[in-house]
Amino acid sequence: MGIEVPRRSMNQPRITLLASQDKILREYFNSQADGHERAAVVLFKRLNITVGSLPVSDRYIAVAVQPFKNEWVTGSSPSHIAFDTQPLREYFRRCEEDSLVFGFAHNHPTGFPDFSETDDANELTLLEAISNRNGRGISLVGLLWTDGLWKARVRSGLAPNAIVSARHVLVTDRPMRVYRDNVAGRQDEAYARQAAAFGMPFVHTLQSLRVAVIGVGGTGSPTATLLARSGIGELILIDPDNLEESNLNRVRGAARRDVGKNKAEILGDYISSLELGGSVTTLNSHVDSPEGVDALASCDVIFGCTDDQIGREILNTTTYAYAQPYIDVGLGGQVAQDANGRPYLRYHHGRVSTILPEAGECLFCQGVLTEQWIRRDYALRETPNMGDAQARERYLDGGAEQAPGVGPFTSAIADFGVATLFDLVAPFRKFPGELRWDAFTFDFVQMALQSSRERNDANCPYCGSRQFLVMQEKQRLNRPSLGIRDVTV
Ligand SMILES: [Zn+2]
Ligand SMILES: [Zn+2]
Repeated sequence: MGIEVPRRSMNQPRITLLASQDKILREYFNSQADGHERAAVVLFKRLNITVGSLPVSDRYIAVAVQPFKNEWVTGSSPSHIAFDTQPLREYFRRCEEDSLVFGFAHNHPTGFPDFSETDDANELTLLEAISNRNGRGISLVGLLWTDGLWKARVRSGLAPNAIVSARHVLVTDRPMRVYRDNVAGRQDEAYARQAAAFGMPFVHTLQSLRVAVIGVGGTGSPTATLLARSGIGELILIDPDNLEESNLNRVRGAARRDVGKNKAEILGDYISSLELGGSVTTLNSHVDSPEGVDALASCDVIFGCTDDQIGREILNTTTYAYAQPYIDVGLGGQVAQDANGRPYLRYHHGRVSTILPEAGECLFCQGVLTEQWIRRDYALRETPNMGDAQARERYLDGGAEQAPGVGPFTSAIADFGVATLFDLVAPFRKFPGELRWDAFTFDFVQMALQSSRERNDANCPYCGSRQFLVMQEKQRLNRPSLGIRDVTV
């Protein structure tokens, strides 16, 4: 029998399955006429990244699934499965060559609610077989589908009898499904009114998530504040910029005395001071830095609240590479002058984009990102003192969305963005025909919700051919400038 390792005291991993992988496994398990147990190989990429003061929690991202072939199975019944490890050796080899972790998934057709003694025996057999080939330093993920739920746990070759339950199994589907460990979540009156709308399990799901907010200015600071208040368990705030006096009309948690300090650190201190029970850590750097990409990679969900197109391009890649639902918010607008020379808002809108690794159009296809704007932002970084006139030109010249900074507008789109996460976890929106779930704007002047037409570009490397989906990395995101991540498998 395995020894249950006390929770909270150690690395409690998180497991991510793509919607397509989850579908293959469930359909395979559920389609057996004999009602017998079945099993499958799931290969995982393991990200063991420590971020600031957050609890240590590895992410295991499924990169491939393979249902057992009939000839691998030596015996089965509704309550057990026995198999030969010999045919699995090619997967053990792949684990070693590609630094992957072997996962053993199976189902309980009888609905037996937890891992059984037979499961212990099977996992120990596998652990021994893999250790013999690849060394004791390996890990094994056990996945169980029973009674309509995923359960998962991890063992190490160094301590085969120690079992660590996964914090959750997350399926990047719409709705996003999060199967939590069966520990009770925090009971807190602070969440009672939100639970009245969505139920307490919803709150506990949010408590199990790690979310990054990239850019914590006008939209990012209300976004992060709302996320913290909604119960998100772990928040990472990323922003390299310092607070300016002209931000004070819209940035949450900042006072005049904070001018000149890093925005992420100001907001991190503010959110910590709320004592809501979650953890928050900050990163004072660009998201396209090695530490920025690592912080992102450790997250379950990403919020893009930056107007830096270089950063957005990174997020548009990591949503695929690290299998993360990605919600991007932005504002666009133009101020004109009337006949008397007074400014008026010609147009002003807020946008919410939702991208899942296998659904929704990417930011390039949505027209939010272009190669030209990314090049322009690189130029701006090289010449940070580019004058006002030049910067304005850069935006007006068919440029990226940018707007005057109006507090109620930046707040409003942050509200829409966080509600979009709620809708992803517990769908409540009824989208009218012309409105896209993955891309809509709110026009603050015309008072209208709108969506542009889908591009449906099958050749798009991001959302069409999906060439970045759970990609193998040599350097981070295979970009030499980002260097190699130290990985312990
Ligand atoms: Zn079992
Ligand atoms: Zn695309």
